[in-house]
Amino acid sequence: MGYQVLARKYRPQRFSDVAGQDHVTRTLLNALAQNRIAHGYIFSGHRGIGKTTIARILAQALNCRTEIGSAQRPTPEPCGTCDACSEIRQGNAVDVIEIDAATNRGIDEIRELRDAARYSPARDRYKIYILDEAHQITEAAFNALLKTLEEPPAHVVFMMATTEPENIPQTIRSRCQHFSFHAVKFDDILAQLKMIAGEEKVDAEDEALALLAEAGDGSMRDALSIMDQAIASAPLEDKRPRLSTEQIRELMGSVPSTVFERLLEAVAAGQSAPLMEQLNVLLNAGHSPLSLARQMVRYLRNTLMAKLGGEQTELLQISTDERARAVRTALLFTEEEITRNLQIVLRTFDDLNYRQEQRFHLELGLLKLIHAQRLLPMEELLSSVAGGTSARTAPAGTAGPRVSPPTPASTGTAAREPGGWSATPPSRTAPKPESRPTMSRPAAAEPAMTARVAAPELSPFPAAPAAGFKPAEPITEGALAVAPEAAAAAELNVESVREQVVSALGEAGHASAAQLLRNGAWRLETTAVQVSVPGIGKKMLVLTVNAAAEKVVRQELQRLGAPTRFVVAPGEGAAPAGVAAAPAAAAGSVQEAALNHPLVKRAQEIFKAEVRSIVDLRQK
Ligand SMILES: [Zn+2]
Repeated sequence: MGYQVLARKYRPQRFSDVAGQDHVTRTLLNALAQNRIAHGYIFSGHRGIGKTTIARILAQALNCRTEIGSAQRPTPEPCGTCDACSEIRQGNAVDVIEIDAATNRGIDEIRELRDAARYSPARDRYKIYILDEAHQITEAAFNALLKTLEEPPAHVVFMMATTEPENIPQTIRSRCQHFSFHAVKFDDILAQLKMIAGEEKVDAEDEALALLAEAGDGSMRDALSIMDQAIASAPLEDKRPRLSTEQIRELMGSVPSTVFERLLEAVAAGQSAPLMEQLNVLLNAGHSPLSLARQMVRYLRNTLMAKLGGEQTELLQISTDERARAVRTALLFTEEEITRNLQIVLRTFDDLNYRQEQRFHLELGLLKLIHAQRLLPMEELLSSVAGGTSARTAPAGTAGPRVSPPTPASTGTAAREPGGWSATPPSRTAPKPESRPTMSRPAAAEPAMTARVAAPELSPFPAAPAAGFKPAEPITEGALAVAPEAAAAAELNVESVREQVVSALGEAGHASAAQLLRNGAWRLETTAVQVSVPGIGKKMLVLTVNAAAEKVVRQELQRLGAPTRFVVAPGEGAAPAGVAAAPAAAAGSVQEAALNHPLVKRAQEIFKAEVRSIVDLRQK
């Protein structure tokens, strides 16, 4: 006999051999024992989980010529040896007709079938029709079939196997017994693979078989066909094929999940550079971005399930080692973070299908994981402000910064009230014990704090020239991070701080930065020194108060005992050519035309957005 693929060679011949569908086989065996046979069965579920296999076993059991209860056939399981059983197994039984509905789906084929069904079986007890992919049958053809199911001849049994039971008309479904098949469990597939490896005399590493079982993803047939492929390409040792983990990974183009564990550790630690380096190694080794994204989705999904259900959850269909790994990774994140990470990687995976520069999209996707992690506290903060409760930074009874959304309005207020303190009653603050590390330092835990400085306004507007800080992103954890020098600020005079910083800048040779800051509106917060500079765009501001100048400022602030967090942002006023602060566009200017353009207005409406700046590129 020629080579037979494993899935066929080891196709179960008895109900009790079918893995993972006990709920179906138990019911069918009972029905057979009681001789309660329906005229229509629907077997539904994913591909490769035993639907047609069970249909064939049922056909054998129905037509088996050996009496149930006899010595050769003590149970309703088919005897497997009589003519009927062996013919059905070989696929040449006259009374068992298998039809692939994917190709024979039309009205003519079904009419033919219906007419033939009227005649008695040629030899055996039942005339059995097994319709594979039954959902593909056309509506007209189903109607033709319905007539037979409404008044079925006593000898006819229809068995429909389908992956999409919802696409079978209700009129048909209601006349059939419906069995919904389960995905085969990882352990069941693994046990079957182990058994087959033994039978086939294949030396297989446990982890290699686990990989195959996992790749099957609930489908026994898929797992077996990958195993076929793996055995065919396996090296021989003592004339026995040897399946190694390495080889299977290569075959499937998959990377060890330790890789994803490491990648996510880098994400949890916020380390962009190592993340990109690891990704680079993988891509250089020839792994496609699409396949990496797909595997990462899978890994994150397992991590999420481990987070939700713990190591032993049924939701994880992976080996013990992999379970432990998923749990380790789950410990690095909150449930929300994993969910968000999964969402980001899923979206990246979707995007990759349509993109040219796949590598860049994957890199961007992974970097987003890190950025999203940083942004979370801000989201929470803003939503808590919007909801009328205060920021979570402060413990009860002490003061915390009141945070307002980053709107130009708040910047404007800052400009009009230089150095203005706004006291807020402590009742606005509420305890939030589970603060994240980046946000959790108490703003003003010092008991010496007076009511005068209790709750200064803190607008998270951009800290433009900070080293390593992108001015394009106004919101970062950094802008809200709380400095310990808070209390000292109370004794400082904002005017003298301004004078000393400006003169330090002048001495250090930063004349234009000094000039700009002298004209700015200064505010001394418990946690930061804020300057809002009128009449300048953000880009110009960043160029002028550059990193070197900011270093001078911070050194001076430290010397003075002021908070060293220094935040400078554009304030109200006319902007230099090319960069306009939105609300102040000059009449008749391009900026005004843009602001009043219906498209822009509509976009503002839709997104409830505001225009920050309008750049006229022609004036570059
Ligand atoms: Zn038999």
